[in-house]
Amino acid sequence: MPSPPGGPRVLLRRLREIMAEPIPAQARLDKIVVVIAANMVAEVCSLYVMRADGALELYATEGLNREAVHLTTMRAGEGLVGLIARTAEPLALSDAQSHPAFSYRPETGEEIYHSFLGVPLLRAGNTLGVLVVQNRTYRVYTEEEIEALQTTAMVLAEMLASGELQALAPQGDGIALRRPLHQRGIPLADGVGLGHVVLHEPRVVVKNLIAENIEAELKRLDDAIAEVRASIDQLIEHGDVAHHGEHREVLETFRMFAHDQGWLRRMREAVHSGLTAEAAVERVQSDNRARMVRQHDPYLRERLHDLDDLANRLLHRLVGRAFVTPEAALPENAILVARAMGPAALLEYDRARLRGLVLEEGGPTSHIAIVARALGIPAVGEVENVTSLVEPGDAIIVDGGVGDVQIRPRADVEAAYAAKARLRARRQEQYRRLRDVPTVTKDGVTIDLHLNAGLLIDLPHLQETAAAGIGLFRTELQFMIAERMPSSSEQQSFYQAVLEAAGDKPVVFRTLDIGGDKILPYMQAMEEENPALGWRAIRIALDRPGLLRSQIRALLKAGAGRPIKIMFPMVATAEEFERAEALVRREQAYLTRHGHALPSDLALGVMVEVPSLLFELDLIAAKADFLSIGSNDLMQYLFAADRENRMVANRFDPLSPASLRALKLVVERAAAAGRPASVCGELGGKPLEAMALIGLGFRALSMAPASVGPVKAMILGLDAGKVARLIADELARPDCRSVRPALADFAERHGIPI
Ligand code: PEP
Ligand code: MG
Repeated sequence: MPSPPGGPRVLLRRLREIMAEPIPAQARLDKIVVVIAANMVAEVCSLYVMRADGALELYATEGLNREAVHLTTMRAGEGLVGLIARTAEPLALSDAQSHPAFSYRPETGEEIYHSFLGVPLLRAGNTLGVLVVQNRTYRVYTEEEIEALQTTAMVLAEMLASGELQALAPQGDGIALRRPLHQRGIPLADGVGLGHVVLHEPRVVVKNLIAENIEAELKRLDDAIAEVRASIDQLIEHGDVAHHGEHREVLETFRMFAHDQGWLRRMREAVHSGLTAEAAVERVQSDNRARMVRQHDPYLRERLHDLDDLANRLLHRLVGRAFVTPEAALPENAILVARAMGPAALLEYDRARLRGLVLEEGGPTSHIAIVARALGIPAVGEVENVTSLVEPGDAIIVDGGVGDVQIRPRADVEAAYAAKARLRARRQEQYRRLRDVPTVTKDGVTIDLHLNAGLLIDLPHLQETAAAGIGLFRTELQFMIAERMPSSSEQQSFYQAVLEAAGDKPVVFRTLDIGGDKILPYMQAMEEENPALGWRAIRIALDRPGLLRSQIRALLKAGAGRPIKIMFPMVATAEEFERAEALVRREQAYLTRHGHALPSDLALGVMVEVPSLLFELDLIAAKADFLSIGSNDLMQYLFAADRENRMVANRFDPLSPASLRALKLVVERAAAAGRPASVCGELGGKPLEAMALIGLGFRALSMAPASVGPVKAMILGLDAGKVARLIADELARPDCRSVRPALADFAERHGIPI
């Protein structure tokens, strides 16, 4: 076989010259395919570009019939070209026509060519097109030739990305560089956001692709690898002890990759084929990302992600931070895209410019989701590989209500979402108009609507919604976003700020509900088989009373001179409540002894969220001043269905007789003991479910701020007496599985908005 004239480096140099020529785009492409064919000693070189509709269109050819250019198209997945685009992997065949995927196109005149080498044009893990060379002979392409064609394809992918070829695209069939993608995730925070992609951890942009001096580039690559290795070693050896566990594992994986001979060899080969060190890293990483996008095994995908992180570190070494978009330059209408993100990081962005958030990780009860909801930022989680599928600046739409993400949407899709966003805004406006209307049912029953909160940013919602107070203040959120354990005096000033912001409206502070899925980053996490059933919340507080004592002291001091309410989470027995209460009394006595002012009134409540408490209701109602049902946990434990596990979380209906009877028991026993009972789990924030709760006899609900409007609109249209009778009748029916259908029908008949 003849060796290529000049080899890949000469080819790259020629390509660079052609790129710089002031000629029209089509003429440039025509020249490029001629040069590639000559360099690869091939009779044919063809460039297929992926269109927005997924088809691959012949954009230029040397060797096939010129008339076929812009005429021949392969549908997505069709023929060898389609196969390469789908798998994002090179394909070398000495006898192409015997391959089962071969698809003959008479207009091209390719029947006389037997051997075939095709490679994908990859950029950021996306396939933009396919580059093919063909020969008449039954030729076996060498590894070096495949590598050389891949390098050439990378340069062409950059040319495509520059947008120059868009002018050649027939109308309506834009190039796939901006191909629309519809991804599904899970809803984290409701709302529709339209904007442009901002990567939370921006990738390095490689601008200088073609090497001037191969030896110098090899040395740059080797030096950068050595530096990255040394820095990983250092992190592992001197890493602080707080970062044990998972963090260390990631670093160990990095170290393994940093010494992986296959990876290093492929990058060196890419430099040998004429690329700069950074372009070589990017070239190899592009293949890796393409594999990552197609990888469905979560473990392997995680490893590919680690490799991606490592490549990014390497790129940072090679080109410096200067190429990374500074965070300060957040554009208007920014939609943040990240693999994972902590709540503190989200809070650092300029809220006024944020329109949405898309994450590869993050469940609905994750901290980031809670903060996104508090900030009113539409958010979607668990969107596989989304960071690899977008480019900074891409148009993107987040529908946090259903969990949809539209990347580079078509104009009609964008218009539909813009209409949806406008409709939502109109509805919000209607809710705002209900703000000062008393929350009273049609038959004159007043329902108190409270807010669930956990951060200071939640407090303005009290004013906006005119809610009666804060029915659940999750104090652990402040602990979760802090870098270290807040001191008692820090807690005190925080609670003071909350009380001041609430004015004369009541606030129910729930003591620390940590453990389970709520991990404090600075606390040594314990390995537990079943964290949801493990050492958490009040259990930690009673075993380590120092933590609870310092919080109670902070709360009592913060509430000096005014009424406050404190509530304990995850109480399983009346005895646990007694012990917590005793601790509070001791703190009260201590503060009095030391001359501190105390709250003018202190109410101690209990969360009913562990089913065992259902069977001690009389006892607990005699002791606690108020009861609040944590329906999220109560349902999880009642049905033994992990609230975090998508497979089972929605398996059981909270409107089924079993759960309604449990809820009814609480409201009845509390009433008998003369104690108020409310619901502060997600259940109370959904109009249909809230209707059921009112029917059971609840007169106070606490919910996320965004739920107040819809629930209030439902209440204003509701006859509480009628719905109570309906629920009683339904529960009396032996074949009742859920009251949901009957309630939906009832709402429709009575024109109640749900
Ligand atoms: C609940 O369990 O319903 C609740 C309100 O508490 P959290 O969601 O914080 O566990
Ligand atoms: Mg709970």
